[in-house]
Formats: sequence, structure tokens, C-alpha cells
Amino acid sequence: MPLDIVPSVCPHDCPSACALDVERIKPAPAKAGGYSLGRVRGAVAQDYTLGVVCAKVSRYAERQHHPERLSQPLRRVGEKGRGVDAFRPISWDDALDEVAEALTHATQRHGAETVWPYYYAGTMGLVQRDGINRLRHAMRYSREDLTICNALSDAGWCAGVGAKRGVDGREIAKSDLIVVWGGNPVSTQINVMTHIAAARRERGAKLVVVDPYRTATAARADLHLAPLPGTDGALACAVMHVLFKEGYADRAYMARYTDDPAGLEAHLKIRDPAWAAAITGLPKDEIVDFARLYGSTRRSYIRVGYGFSRSRNGSAQLFAVSCLPAVTGAWAHEGGGALYSNLGLVEIDHTLIEGLDRLDPSIRMLDQSRIGPVLTGDARDLGNGPPVTALFVQNTNPMVVAPESRLVHRGFARSDLFVCVHEQFMTETAAMADIVLPATTFLEHDDLYLGGAHTYLQLGRAVLPAHAECRSNHDVINGLATRLGAHHPGFAMSAVELIDRTLRLSGLPGVADFPQGGRLDCCPPFATGHFLDGFPQPDRKFHFRADWRAIGPQYARLPAFPDHVAAIDDGDPERPFRLVAAPSRSFLNTSFNNTPSSIAREGRPTALVHPEALKELRLADGDRVRIGNRQGNLVVHARGFAGMQKRVVIVEGLWPNHAFEEGIGINLLTSADPGLPRGGAVFHDTSVWLSPA
Ligand code: SF4
Repeated sequence: MPLDIVPSVCPHDCPSACALDVERIKPAPAKAGGYSLGRVRGAVAQDYTLGVVCAKVSRYAERQHHPERLSQPLRRVGEKGRGVDAFRPISWDDALDEVAEALTHATQRHGAETVWPYYYAGTMGLVQRDGINRLRHAMRYSREDLTICNALSDAGWCAGVGAKRGVDGREIAKSDLIVVWGGNPVSTQINVMTHIAAARRERGAKLVVVDPYRTATAARADLHLAPLPGTDGALACAVMHVLFKEGYADRAYMARYTDDPAGLEAHLKIRDPAWAAAITGLPKDEIVDFARLYGSTRRSYIRVGYGFSRSRNGSAQLFAVSCLPAVTGAWAHEGGGALYSNLGLVEIDHTLIEGLDRLDPSIRMLDQSRIGPVLTGDARDLGNGPPVTALFVQNTNPMVVAPESRLVHRGFARSDLFVCVHEQFMTETAAMADIVLPATTFLEHDDLYLGGAHTYLQLGRAVLPAHAECRSNHDVINGLATRLGAHHPGFAMSAVELIDRTLRLSGLPGVADFPQGGRLDCCPPFATGHFLDGFPQPDRKFHFRADWRAIGPQYARLPAFPDHVAAIDDGDPERPFRLVAAPSRSFLNTSFNNTPSSIAREGRPTALVHPEALKELRLADGDRVRIGNRQGNLVVHARGFAGMQKRVVIVEGLWPNHAFEEGIGINLLTSADPGLPRGGAVFHDTSVWLSPA
């Protein structure tokens, strides 16, 4: 069968934003129908992706041609939550008319803020992800505070560095020591491992992993430190204590590039390895060994993950880690420094896509991580505003991914709540909707992608015809805007026109002038990438003294200097275990948790429990264990795993709710408490009890 290979970009919620080479299979002449999808490979020509993608995306045909993909608009005629059987097909015109009518009716009763367009990063493309904001602002609907993934980590990184950028990920290959801190790239960002492998092969570089459990990445490390969850700030402080005490601190660098090295040194005097050992549970000598290795390596590169920021003190933890290369001056060296994300590298003018010229900052903002409390009428969230009585959802699945699932489920079950979900599959959120609209995949629409892990801006063009009656997010937003009487130039443009105009407004080449293959490398010069011409702070210095007050309203509990902030859910005799709801290798949030190969690889919801703890519970591998706290409890199967401290329990996911015996998943146990200082979901900051089920 004839086959061609076309460029594309992975749109999933992953920093790698891989450049793809997509096999397109043309139908045989005698057969009707459009192209179908063959293999998906990493593009060799893009030198961050370097031909490598994760297994789940390489098998994208499973998802693209999945028999359960939604194919037509649906109206619910049966019970909420039952699934496809509870819906009947309707036409697009009828579906959009009904949605527009429902939003209008809700607005007439309660005011525009009663409508909450709710979205996240099911696609990372700027047009198809963020266009919902154009409708929101044009209609004066409630705003959404995008806290669920990076509010804590952004706050922590920007406290010191000042902007969301760091040293080019390709420089990992030129490092002599790579520290992967709070991430598991073997499972979640495979390209990082490509560059680490090059550094090990060509330079004999060492790999250190800091993670509360022995992940697949940690298993490949020369040194794995496994602190208790929520204690990485203490570890970072003790490492810096050793750096100062043993002469590894680069005082000339600090004098030139940082704000208060003397203040930091004095602050760290009492934060020694013994102090950190008591907090982190790590052996004192291990902390010292790590500090000496880090301090004695000029080309040391910290790849900061998101994991250790998913904690009430996550900003403070990440800030503390970001201080390390400023103490040793590693930022100044090729292959040295750190990277959290490069999403702030390219300045894109979002006005046209998001309708920012219609944004009224007096309109209330609701925290996406607190959708459970919001939908159940928590006055802390709603303020003096109306209840949310209409939701329009794109690119996310809050019935599974949002914390405090019990509240989320209760909220979606409200009979007075109208819900429209635009989705690729009948997710558990879609099953609660009144109207479900079928959505295109990234292979079927046009978009523009930034990458957190690299420096490329990439165009992804439609390479396959839309499945059945599926429509893109952009088309649906424009269709609703017409019916609702919303006005904005962006509603009259195609996705490509919007991309082209946005690029030009941003001072970048337009679509026709973009490089062949759609990949524009925006890597800054060495001095800028390494902050040798100053950090992006008002005084051009890295800040050891964080100005938390400028970052968020809940700043009072955060100390200026890096520290361990004891704001975590550290348990008590009734809840002695610390649960980390970590990402699995074969799922990405809830994407791919319905593809056969991913399910086969992951098996079933499983708790990794330390073998000694398992024995004390009189349980063996494969036994059912009940995990609980004040929010509820659920049953999973236990597996003995010695690669962590005895108090730690790991449940990887995200599994659908229906994969659990009692129909509710791991976020039953996680809290919707906002992290400090400006919100953020605290998925890895949960104390629990265990008992035999
Ligand atoms: S590693 Fe991330 S960006 Fe790359 S293909 Fe997999 S999910 Fe997509």
C-alpha cells in the first residue's frame, strides 16, 4: 500500500513537544476513504527529538483509529455517567444551537460569570488549546486560573531565575554531571535520556536522580537519592551548606550575578547535612557525597522535573534547587546550569488567539484545581459571584484528573448544571455532559507549538482528514461565537490565518516563511542562554532572596531564603504513609489510558509498598490493599517495592475511575488545598493509612 511520510508535532501535555515523522497510508485505488495512519517516529532532522519518541505515541494509530473514537455530536437522553448508551446522535447545527441556548439561558438567569469555559492541556497547540479564552473574554464568562500543573513550579523557578527559561536541553550532552531532580524522563520525557546517554557515552558523565522512589530513570543512575516527599528543599539547603563550607561555592560568580550571597551563607549555617537527614530521611553521608560531586563538577546540569513541586511547599522546594547552580557558578559553563522549562523563551503575542483585548480583569477568576469546591458551591471560590451553572469543557478530563474527586463528582452530578464536553472519546467527564461534541486529533487540524524542553517553535499541519464528523476546537469555538453573538476578528479566521497573523504580530516569520518542515529554532546566543548578560530580574541578578509577595497572595509562610517549609501534609499516627500519585509510563494524564497496548503494559491500579510495610500489614504481592484518609478510601493491588523509604507509597496512573473496584480513582485521596503562594495542585502531598482490603 502506498505510503508517504509527513512532518508533524506531538501535541500532548509533555515538555518534549517532539518533532514527528508520520507515516500516512494512502488507500488502495479501489477502496474508498481517506488516508490512515501508520507508524509515528521522532524526526531525526530536529536535533532535540533526534528520532526518538515515546512508545505510546509511536503507536498513535491505536488512538487515532480507536473503535471508540467519538464520531458525531450526541445529546444525553439517559442517566449521567452511564456512557455512550445514554446518548443519541444529533446534527452539528442542533448541538451548537442547544449549547448556545443553554449558555444564554444560564447568563440571563445568573449573569455571565455563571458560565465557566474549562480547559487545559489535552493539546498544547496554542490555537486549539487557548482559543476557548477568546470566547470567554468576548462573552465575559468566568476566567480560569491555570494552576493544576505548573503554578507551583513556575512560582519556584521565577522566584530565583526571574523567567521561564533555562539552558538549552541539547547541552545536556556536553555535561559531566546531570542531576534529574523530581522527574522520571524514562517514562515521561524520553528525549532527555537521549542527551544523557550521549554525555555518558562521550564524556563519561555521571547521572544523579533525586526522586522519592526508584523510578526507571533512577534505576539507571550512578546515584539515587530518595528523600521523603516534600523535603527536597531541605536536601538542597544542606547541599548548599556543604558547597559553602568546603570551598565549592564560586564567590566571584556570586558577587557578580547574585543578590545576596553573604545572606544566603549565613542563613545556611545551621542547615547542615545532619539537619537535612532528619527531615529527608536520607543518610547524612549520602547528602555530603552528592554535594561534593556536584560542587566539584563545573559542567553540572540540573534537569528540574515537575514532581517535587506538586506539594504545598512545592514553590519553595523548586526555588531551593534552582539556587544550586548560582552557588557553584555552573550557569557560566557550557553543559552547566539548569532547565525547568523553556516555555517563556519565545515571546508570542497571544492577543488574537485568546482575545486578550477583550479581557476584563474585574471578572472573577476560578481556580481550575478547585473545580470540586467550585462546583459544590464553596464560598471561598465563588466569592460574591453566582454559582457555576454552565460548563463548556475542552482538552481535559476533570472527573479523573482533578483533586478531591468526591467533590468533583458531586458537582458534575448536579441537576442544575449544564455541561457540554468537546472530546475525542467518551471520557468520564464527557459521560456527565448534556451535549458531547466529537473532536479532531492533532493529525487532523493545524496548530502552533512551543516546547518546554527545547528551543523550537513548530508548526503542525493537518495531515489526515477529520475522522467522521469530528471538528477542531477552533471550529467549535467559532461556531459557538456566531450563535452567541460574540465579536472578535479571531472568530472569522481559519486556524492557519490565526497562526500566520500571530507569528507576524510576534515579530516572527509567517507561515509561508517558516523553515521547511515547520521547525524554527529560537535558541538564544550562549551568553543569554546562560544568563551571562544578566538574569531576567529587575536588578539582572539571580535572587537568593525570593520576593514571594510579588508572586502570590499566600506568601506569609514562605521564607525569603531557600528552606524546608513544613507546610506539607506530613501525616500523623493514623495516617503514617506518604502517597505519591506519580505518572505512569504508558498513560499521559488520562490520554492513552484506553489504548490496548498501554493498558496491557500498565496492568491494573497498583500500590508500590515497601516490603517491610507490606509484611507488617500481613500482605503479600498481589494482595488487595485499602488506602485511605479523611477524604475517602479505595482498593488497589499491592506490590512490594524496596526502592523508597518505608513511609512512601506510590500509585502510578492516571487510571480511569472505572478501573477501581469502587468506581473512583486515586484523586479521591488528593487534596484541592492550594499550594503556596498562588495555588497549584498538591498531588504528591497526601498522607494516608493502609489496611488489608
Ligand atoms: S515524549 Fe512527550 S512529546 Fe514526545 S512523543 Fe511522547 S508524549 Fe509526545
